[in-house]
Amino acid sequence: MSNDSYEDAIAGLNKLLSEKADLGSVAAAKIKQITAELESAASQGFDPGVSLLIAAADAEFGLIMAITLFRKNPDLYGALAKGQSPKFLVFACSDSRVCPSHVLNFEPGEAFVVRNIANMVPPHDQTKYSGVGAAIEYAVLHLKVEHIVVIGHSRCGGIKGLMSIPEDGSTASDFIENWVKICAPAKSKEAVNVSLGNLLTYPFVREAVVNDTLFLKGAHYDFVKGAFDLWDLDFKISSCLAI
Ligand SMILES: [Zn+2]
Repeated sequence: MSNDSYEDAIAGLNKLLSEKADLGSVAAAKIKQITAELESAASQGFDPGVSLLIAAADAEFGLIMAITLFRKNPDLYGALAKGQSPKFLVFACSDSRVCPSHVLNFEPGEAFVVRNIANMVPPHDQTKYSGVGAAIEYAVLHLKVEHIVVIGHSRCGGIKGLMSIPEDGSTASDFIENWVKICAPAKSKEAVNVSLGNLLTYPFVREAVVNDTLFLKGAHYDFVKGAFDLWDLDFKISSCLAI
């Protein structure tokens, strides 16, 4: 790494310090410490570890933001310390471009979130899909969420992978293709509806839906156009599935 890069990093941290005058003194001291370490490394022409220091600076920035958020919302975090009562269980893709908290502006405590490849809900299966099952069970029976929202999105690599599985069903990956095959009956946006149908294979979900204490919704987020569509469970599609 060149000295220019060191100086850029140091300049960036100093700029951050000057712009964020309201940061807590402890957090600001931490940035100063990292800045000093960077300067020391730069003056010695020392390379190893500097990238780690920059990574540490990034991590510290995240911590500072968390501290700042906490200080702005002490009542919220005081309440959250006692427990959570989110109204939503959200299924979203692991894709780095579609974080549901950013897309829907959820505050901490508002949404219980499951993220996986192509935001899929597998059918009830205590052996194969226990991780997802546990999340649904906890959200529905213990947190008593009122809505389950499955959010698909544009340019999803998982859906693209599903579409490219050969007709004979042969796979070349250890996990990915077998996972996305969950939504093999559907294509693109309709994959969300397969997931909504699969939710009804969970007895506690079915019971809550029948009792009108839980509502299932599909959604599609187009991050290129900035569009967000929301729709209710389509029972006609669901009833086609083996429930
Ligand atoms: Zn995706």
